[in-house]
Amino acid sequence: MSWLNNFVRPKIQALVNRRNVPDNLWDKCPSCEQMIFHRDLEAQLFVCPHCDHHMAITPEQRFANLFDDGTYTTIELPKVPVDPLKFRDTKRYTDRLKDAQTKTSHGDAAIVAHGTMARRPVVLCAFDFSFMGGSMGLAVGEALVAAARLAVLQRAPLVVFPASGGARMQEGILSLMQMPRTTVAVGEVRDAGLPYIVVLTNPTTGGVTASFAMLGDVSLAEPGALIGFAGPRVIESTIRQTLPDGFQKSEYLLDHGMVDAVVHRRDLRDTLARIIGLLTNPQPQADVVELVEKSVEIPEATGGKEVTVDAVPVEDDGAGDKPA
Ligand SMILES: [Zn+2]
Repeated sequence: MSWLNNFVRPKIQALVNRRNVPDNLWDKCPSCEQMIFHRDLEAQLFVCPHCDHHMAITPEQRFANLFDDGTYTTIELPKVPVDPLKFRDTKRYTDRLKDAQTKTSHGDAAIVAHGTMARRPVVLCAFDFSFMGGSMGLAVGEALVAAARLAVLQRAPLVVFPASGGARMQEGILSLMQMPRTTVAVGEVRDAGLPYIVVLTNPTTGGVTASFAMLGDVSLAEPGALIGFAGPRVIESTIRQTLPDGFQKSEYLLDHGMVDAVVHRRDLRDTLARIIGLLTNPQPQADVVELVEKSVEIPEATGGKEVTVDAVPVEDDGAGDKPA
């Protein structure tokens, strides 16, 4: 089944579902409203070249940017009961689910993939905000648990990219139960001594912020992302005070010690690889470095005098860089 599901089905869906093909060649930046040539936007990893606005991207686009050579394997996620509460608002929940599945060609809002990043094994879990606002129900909870267990099984770090409006209200208490479940799941990764890294993307709010999204050993954020529990409008109307500029944005959270770094999308891969390298290999076995006498010519500053440096290490070939 997995070969059919993981390989054949996406290929067929890619043929049938043409949502990645733009209707026209131009996209409009939702922030500065400039027109951008679609191919340019793709090359810029969907970051506006004019105002640096980080647009929403699909889990597949994220995986393709982050894994070595863009190759990865998505895992089949456990099946969950569909619409356990038989919920209906203006529409049946089952209909909403079907619509979202057709629109995104995803089973639910979270996708889990594994592969290598800078030659180290890594498990990634990314959210698709266009699937019912990336809301966390049973399926998303299962995805997080599956991602955590896979990370433990593979002795690989877990990196999660939440983009969510919070818990899925159509699943009531069952969606709220995913908060402790996902917390326990990331706890398993921690107990196994493996790094758990969160990259907060726009938006990370509600029950997701109140559980696994704020528990990263290292918390990174994409620039300009809205991160908080309740949204600014709700807070403003509750406390009846004007909120400061940039409230609940990544940069504001960085200034107030809630995130460790705000990382531009183009630097994300290198940053993650470096952090994972440091965390998975805290005491790298240093190779014996051959020392050679080398004379270095220093111009101008020392009056062009030749200075002899005692010993200069031979350039590292990266051999001591392997995971432990
Ligand atoms: Zn823009």
